[in-house]
Amino acid sequence: MNPLTINFTRLKDDIQTLAGIGRGQDDGLYRMAFTEADMEARAWLKTRIEEAGLDYFLDGAANIHARLRWDGERPSVITGSHLDTVPGAGHLDGALGVLSGLECLRSLKEQNIVTRYPLEAIAFTDEEGRFGGMFGSMAFCGLLSPDSILQARDLKGIALVDAMAAQGLDAMAALDAQRKPDTVHSFVEMHIEQGPVLDRQHLHIGVVDAISGLFKWQVRLIGESNHAGTTPMNMRRDAMQGLAELACEIPRVLEEHGSPRSVATIGRVELFPGAANVVPGKAEFSLEVRDTGEKTLAELADAFRRVISAIARRRDLMFEFEVLSELQPAKSAAGIVETISDVCLELGVNSTRMHSGAAHDTQFLSRITRAGMIFVPSKDGRSHSPSEWTSWEDI
Ligand SMILES: [Zn+2]
Repeated sequence: MNPLTINFTRLKDDIQTLAGIGRGQDDGLYRMAFTEADMEARAWLKTRIEEAGLDYFLDGAANIHARLRWDGERPSVITGSHLDTVPGAGHLDGALGVLSGLECLRSLKEQNIVTRYPLEAIAFTDEEGRFGGMFGSMAFCGLLSPDSILQARDLKGIALVDAMAAQGLDAMAALDAQRKPDTVHSFVEMHIEQGPVLDRQHLHIGVVDAISGLFKWQVRLIGESNHAGTTPMNMRRDAMQGLAELACEIPRVLEEHGSPRSVATIGRVELFPGAANVVPGKAEFSLEVRDTGEKTLAELADAFRRVISAIARRRDLMFEFEVLSELQPAKSAAGIVETISDVCLELGVNSTRMHSGAAHDTQFLSRITRAGMIFVPSKDGRSHSPSEWTSWEDI
């Protein structure tokens, strides 16, 4: 079989041009959703779509669609990712998936290749979460409510509704962006790995078979604050000691109740009252746990609950927790996984099946259609940083 080719010089130019939009003094990109830089990138993409003779469509959630042979009747095969970035981002996270999708549509059009289904390349809105994250793909999959739109705010307290209105957009129209599942044939997202696995193993393509789900708790261990000099060790109710014990238990809990894909992180900790000469009476911290299996996640939640209460009992502490967020894991469609692996074989590119520990728009798309992801290596696993890099050859 003769492999289809794209115009790589053109793709490279697009990646480099987009990398210049929203660049800060620290060399990082600042294209957070609905900032001036995001709007500039959107306008630039619109021009590129129109120059290519593709149809441009903006849906109610401000997702940008490039369309080829769209007829509104047949379901479309969709690819895409996001244009927005975290503050201080690298140039490939999101951008690579949007621009490679655009390039594929352009090349297919130029080479007059007729596909059985219409094609769409989509740039989803606010994937990175200025207003909570995955706004565009959630709207697309019908997962937003009027309330969730009205309540969405950024860290400065600016409402999504106002940020969109300032750009002439109506946030409530996002409710109209929902696509019926029978209008979507399948979805594939190309993305940088954002982790070290491919780079360390000198592999060129990651075929994503699942995306981790997660639960995030806010946990409080409550003991008693007291004088650090006069309270003997055996008369303390030290919340920090309980937290430290839990941290040390993490590897054991994962080993006994998790899978090789399980990870758990205590990433934010606050001690009260927070003085060097006071026994901490309260420890408040986050516990975030990820895995690709829904059952495994539930089992891990149970295990952590038991472990924390046992520690609390032993150390005479009180234990409270609330669930801050939960996200279901997603499985790639078997047919898409096989197709990507087969194409790698045909092209003589080494690849491996792997999971994604990070969340992506595909997580939601997989709820309404057959979905999958293609990963390319991230140099040293770096991402969300100006040093994010993937070799042109891997791209
Ligand atoms: Zn991304």
